[in-house]
Amino acid sequence: MISSCRAIIFDMDGTLTRPVLDFDALAARIGIDEGPILEAMQRMDDAARRRAESILQEVEADAAARSELQPGAMEVVQALRDARIPTALMTRNSRCSVETFLDRHGLRFDAVRTREDGVVKPSPEPVHQLCRTLGVPAGQTWVIGDYRFDIDCAIAAGATAVLLLNDAGTPDWARTAHVVIRDLRELLVPLGLAAATPRCGAEA
Ligand SMILES: [Mg+2]
Repeated sequence: MISSCRAIIFDMDGTLTRPVLDFDALAARIGIDEGPILEAMQRMDDAARRRAESILQEVEADAAARSELQPGAMEVVQALRDARIPTALMTRNSRCSVETFLDRHGLRFDAVRTREDGVVKPSPEPVHQLCRTLGVPAGQTWVIGDYRFDIDCAIAAGATAVLLLNDAGTPDWARTAHVVIRDLRELLVPLGLAAATPRCGAEA
């Protein structure tokens, strides 16, 4: 069910940023055959995990330093701030990379959750913690992301799950999202924050 929206939680990579991180290539470089990277790293011995963390941090830091915003990202975040709608950033990325990203683009959020802060999505816990911080129930919060983990954690937390489709096709699991968008600016319409489109022939 699509709830009212009193807060918005954004994923970072591929949602606020253009999707540049190739997670499959990164996993292959680390030596992970299948499954998500962070979970696979937890099963490694200490030496292998240290090596994996080094590669991961190097790749993430480089991606953050070169990151480009999605079309409309700045406009949407600013519109939400102007409307006093609380915003948060929720990522499996590192605190260091998030700070690089925020500084690079001059973006600010009311709350930020990175992998250093505890259990990561697809667990619903990051959504619950951010909602507590923002003072808004999960049931009145929208979670925006481009990957299955974003949708799964939103649904498990009782939030509204919004899937941003990038250039790739529509995955099978997209139907589990409550809302599917192709441009972040689509968020502004149901919130009543979309800029009025000038009427053809209207007087200035
Ligand atoms: Mg993402």
